[in-house]
Amino acid sequence: MTDLIEVRGLEKSFGDHHVLRGVDFSAESGTVTALLGPSGSGKTTVLRSMNVLEMPDAGVVRIGEASIDFATRPDRRAVKALRARSGMVFQAHNLFPHKTVLGNLIEGPVQVQGRPTDEAVADARSLLEQVGLAGREDAYPAQLSGGQQQRVGIARALALRPEVLLLDEPTSALDPELVGEVLAVIRDLAAENWTLVIVTHEVRFARDVADQVLFLDEGVVAERGGPEVLTDPREERTQRFLARVL
Ligand code: ADP
Repeated sequence: MTDLIEVRGLEKSFGDHHVLRGVDFSAESGTVTALLGPSGSGKTTVLRSMNVLEMPDAGVVRIGEASIDFATRPDRRAVKALRARSGMVFQAHNLFPHKTVLGNLIEGPVQVQGRPTDEAVADARSLLEQVGLAGREDAYPAQLSGGQQQRVGIARALALRPEVLLLDEPTSALDPELVGEVLAVIRDLAAENWTLVIVTHEVRFARDVADQVLFLDEGVVAERGGPEVLTDPREERTQRFLARVL
């Protein structure tokens, strides 16, 4: 089977800070890839590069048939084509505060993708059901809990019908009692064979849900494998990291 996602030789510097130093990985369709590693190791930058929210200095990102080799600066059309393949869920949900839940969900499909409103609304309703928020379409973000807001954030990313969902520490801004409901939604998506790439500090969750674990350290994939990377790591730096966080 051909991999749905391919990342090769990804490099990124911020000024003279060389943050990504050749990141390589691939992922098959329908799998969950968890990115773990110390703070500052480059996890978020990898994810943002895949969506071209950061412009990598070098390397290749391919999702499905959309591919960019960042050796030369990509044109806008190539960036748009790659971006359309993935949806991004941020730490804080970034919902439009003046729009209802439904308004938030149909904004991208209708305004950006030009889909018919009734189709986008029907899609949005079914996504709200999927994230356990059926009946809340008329609520404003401020009327929802942080966990509910983040679930809307996930539904909003899915509303664009991406092939891959990129989740950047989706629970780290939440109060501890709200983390479980968001992880449960992500778990459901994994069970439905969505292709997910998730940056997380939730080691136990990653161990349960991930098909592939990437341990990032100082801008490289220091260890890569199945969930056993998190129970029986080979690399000393993975062992040290896990000893600190578990
Ligand atoms: P992680 O997600 O593993 O914590 P990040 O990818 O967020 O790591 O960041 C890696 C390094 O890059 C950090 O030292 C961070 O300060 C730096 N960095 C990230 N984004 C920027 C930016 N836009 N400008 C300057 N430095 C940045």
